[in-house]
Amino acid sequence: MLLTPEYIFRNIEAITPQFLQERGITALVLDVDNTLTEDGSQNLAPTVAAWLQTMRDAGISLTIVSNNTPRRVAPFAEKLGLAWVPLACKPLPVGLAVARRRLKVSRARMAMVGDQIFTDRLSAGLYGIPCLYTLPRGGDTQRGVRFKRKFEPTYINRYYQNGGTVYE
Ligand SMILES: [Mg+2]
Repeated sequence: MLLTPEYIFRNIEAITPQFLQERGITALVLDVDNTLTEDGSQNLAPTVAAWLQTMRDAGISLTIVSNNTPRRVAPFAEKLGLAWVPLACKPLPVGLAVARRRLKVSRARMAMVGDQIFTDRLSAGLYGIPCLYTLPRGGDTQRGVRFKRKFEPTYINRYYQNGGTVYE
């Protein structure tokens, strides 16, 4: 239950203000690697920059929660103009608790956006908020992440078997 995605999006750009409004979500916690950009990359795709602006225009609060180091996260977050929590220890929900205090919202208005079942999806489940699971933007450079990926298809297939489809 805590591992099967509730929603799968082709990428972060597929998340719309309408989808969030229909579910009463006003704040998003964003993963970085393979969610907002490629793994380890400082590149900000124009489509992602446009998506961030769309979210801001819709009044959605945004913050970054990453398991990666300040050295990796800070330059990227500053480019986006977003607050950030590094070394978040996902799937432990501590990073989400820090983000919630910063965002000043109730859990009922929050969602996690990320590309990993065993960090993003699980941390959201443990914290009691939905995860908007996004398919990874590319390959994984870290060995630990590659290992965890091998166990993801079971849960992703369960979503499809339950009739779930990919939001495009
Ligand atoms: Mg990630």
